[in-house]
Amino acid sequence: MIVILRPGISKKEEAQVLSEIKKLGYRPHVMRGVERTVVGAIGDERSHQSLEVLTSWPQVERVMPVQQRYKLVSREAQKSNSIITVRGVPIGGKKFQVMAGPCSVEDERQLLQTAHAVKKAGATILRGGAFKPRTSPYEFQGLGLKGLKLLGKARAETGLAIITELLSEQHADLVAQYADIIQIGARNAQNFQLLIAAAKTGKPVLLKRGLSMKIEEWLLAGEYILSNNNPNLMFCERGIRTFETYTRNTLDLSTIPIIKKESHCPIIIDPSQGAGRADLVIAMCKGAVAMGADGLLIEVHPNPAEAWSDGAQQLTFDGFARLMEDLQPFIAAAGRE
Ligand code: PEP
Ligand code: MN
Repeated sequence: MIVILRPGISKKEEAQVLSEIKKLGYRPHVMRGVERTVVGAIGDERSHQSLEVLTSWPQVERVMPVQQRYKLVSREAQKSNSIITVRGVPIGGKKFQVMAGPCSVEDERQLLQTAHAVKKAGATILRGGAFKPRTSPYEFQGLGLKGLKLLGKARAETGLAIITELLSEQHADLVAQYADIIQIGARNAQNFQLLIAAAKTGKPVLLKRGLSMKIEEWLLAGEYILSNNNPNLMFCERGIRTFETYTRNTLDLSTIPIIKKESHCPIIIDPSQGAGRADLVIAMCKGAVAMGADGLLIEVHPNPAEAWSDGAQQLTFDGFARLMEDLQPFIAAAGRE
């Protein structure tokens, strides 16, 4: 930590700060400039009390961390990109991956038809919510175990890997039995006990960004996965809440280069929750590919108008097939396959 002292303080006041720094377990290193004195406090914040308490001291102007608060997810911890292999599908490498399927699993016909359609168009992973996080308790909450079983059936028929959401710690083992990737939803992105439970299943985890989550908080939430001995984490940007109402959320594509710079973990873009509108999905996908995303998570439904959740943002089979075709030149231009 760096502690910047206020100009003009007395020697005695300075000594009080230095003694407090030592008391908290750090070694103070004093650097005297013409105007200001800066103290480098040497020690690891993970094993000592934070020096942030000094912020309220009248002698202190500012306290600044030197180390990032996240470690294992950081680029410093690992220079090369992490590649997560799910049923033979590598995520985070040269190959661009598309995960697609309905918002919610509704019935066998709906899911299997969609699974075949997205596979034919080139998706490699099937999405579908069995446990749904709904804003209102009166809305469709998902089929639960029945939905998981249908996902298992769709995997057996198509060979597609499955991504589905884990809503509650108590379902961790159950969901892990059926999922190849565990999705942690935006509303649970800082449910730390759930993150730990997801990590402990040993399955790869896709961590959505919370609705009002700062990137640092998102990286720290990801740290919960890696620090619980699960190296297979991917981040997923799905839009944040802003003042804008033209779209359901504001899809923050700046997270792509930022996550790439800060972390070695793959970044996936979800333009469906991001825009909340099927007509905007294709443009968002092109942008995401061009900016270096590792994959997409897209909602597709046989008949979006009759979907039990998120109808306005789901693509039809034709729409999805067109999207996959239109994306090809962008994928090639981004140096991906
Ligand atoms: C979803 O993927 O259907 C979903 C509920 O996502 P989010 O958690 O991003 O809202
Ligand atoms: Mn949805």
